[in-house]
Amino acid sequence: MQGLMMHGALTLGAILDRAERINARGAVVSRGSDRSLHRSTYGDLAPRARRLAAGLRDLGVPEGARVATLMWNQREHLEAYYGVPARGAVVHTLNPRLSPAELGHIAAHAEDEAIIADASLVEVLQRIRAEREFRHVIVVGDGDLPPGAIAYEEALATGDPGLPPVAQDDELAAAALCYTSGTTGHPKGVLYSHRSLVLHAMGLAMADSFGIREADTVLPVVPMFHVNAWGLPFTCPMTGAQLVLPGRFLDPESLLELLVGERVTFTAGVPTVWLALLERLDQEPDAHDLSALRCMLVGGSAAPKGLIEAFERRHGLHVLQGWGMTEMCPVGSIGRLPRAMADAPAEERLAYRARQGQPVPLVEIRARHEDGFVPWDGVTMGELEVRGPTVAAAYMGGDGADRFTADGWFRTGDIVTIDPTGCIEITDREKDLIKSGGEWISSVALENALMALPAVAEAAVIAIPDPKWQERPLACVVLRPGHGPTPDELRERLAGAFPSWWLPDRVEFVEEIPRTATGKFKKSVLRDRFAGNPGT
Ligand code: ADP
Repeated sequence: MQGLMMHGALTLGAILDRAERINARGAVVSRGSDRSLHRSTYGDLAPRARRLAAGLRDLGVPEGARVATLMWNQREHLEAYYGVPARGAVVHTLNPRLSPAELGHIAAHAEDEAIIADASLVEVLQRIRAEREFRHVIVVGDGDLPPGAIAYEEALATGDPGLPPVAQDDELAAAALCYTSGTTGHPKGVLYSHRSLVLHAMGLAMADSFGIREADTVLPVVPMFHVNAWGLPFTCPMTGAQLVLPGRFLDPESLLELLVGERVTFTAGVPTVWLALLERLDQEPDAHDLSALRCMLVGGSAAPKGLIEAFERRHGLHVLQGWGMTEMCPVGSIGRLPRAMADAPAEERLAYRARQGQPVPLVEIRARHEDGFVPWDGVTMGELEVRGPTVAAAYMGGDGADRFTADGWFRTGDIVTIDPTGCIEITDREKDLIKSGGEWISSVALENALMALPAVAEAAVIAIPDPKWQERPLACVVLRPGHGPTPDELRERLAGAFPSWWLPDRVEFVEEIPRTATGKFKKSVLRDRFAGNPGT
């Protein structure tokens, strides 16, 4: 027997409608390229997004077309998040930190027809155009237009703000596209449906997720070109929470100005950003009034335990960890302390919060190793698999089919343990895991232990081939100024915490750890550099 409820398609149009009718006074503060702050509201967002949709239609951008963006966290990017899907097209966020060749390749693979770029990125735009021809090029902001481009405001001026150009009733239609950052392989396209984005946006608002509500002021430091800025540009207009968009200024000084000046309550970014902010706060304790800030979300890479502890003990700031993937919209799990842990000793609570946490509602998890599914004992390691309505069912163009299991799960490539309560701890990525004599060694655990030592600024542990054990760990270490431990001294410091066969055979001191465009360690470069080289 079927239920007798209305269908009500889950579309971004429904979020935009609500933003306009119910949350019209919700503020959007956006920092421009000249650092000035532009103030508008969700009441302004909706007609401008519809004008963009109509402008795209008038230019001849068809339904289903891909429209690339090359922008910072700025109000026009927010308009594109809604305006492009309102045309029935797909908004494809490009990461300006990738090389022009990579961007050209991605834009060609996605068959982007149009691109909307910020004027501060025109040089990057022109280099991408050398690799990929776009039918329409739209530039946001002041400055001379490159050949063949039109001004964003001109595109908006022609559009009728009253009429939604496409009747949005297909929640399964594609709304947005983002490529994986390619840390462990070629970038692959993840095509989000309206439905997946709406469900994800609602999930973030749940009290035990990010708990975003109307009274919040949210500053996404995570770029809007990095997996939908983790969904915040959808959750905020939906709930009415105010949005503060920092533009291209992500240094601690600029962020503090906004965090303090706008009385931000919730902010989100990768560990690198928060490490820089922490250093600044340590230099000037008590100089900044962050009393409004209730939560700093850390994701994208593991949040070091020391970071969570330092913010809390030294500055009274609460750090929450989220784990996710491009393929998951992206949030998959949240490291919130459960009720049963509330009275546990401080060290245990901290250790729990440094894990990746329980899956968010509607995401199912399981982990598998050579012998089948691993027990949820918090010890046995296996590759995490996920399933749910916010998880990709395939990559664009059928790439990477081996990442999807025959029974409909997605293989994350993350090696985890799962405890009896379903709390995940990531011990490695599959390609970074060290397999020594048939046993697994977690490079992440060794890195965390090294980075907890006062002498070590950064550490990346990689596998190098070994004739006897197949693979052995090698540690690449960046020392802090004024420190000069020997490799043996570092090994000794680790010895108490790990079995002896886990200890890195080699330690290489390096100037820096190479990073990807999203700020993660790029271990493939280190493997290329050290794997074939017998070293010291
Ligand atoms: P890429 O896979 O190219 O790095 P993503 O941005 O999709 O691009 O990254 C997803 C991966 O980032 C996850 O599979 C995981 O390895 C890592 N990751 C994300 N958040 C966390 C976290 N909180 N702790 C540990 N690893 C994380």
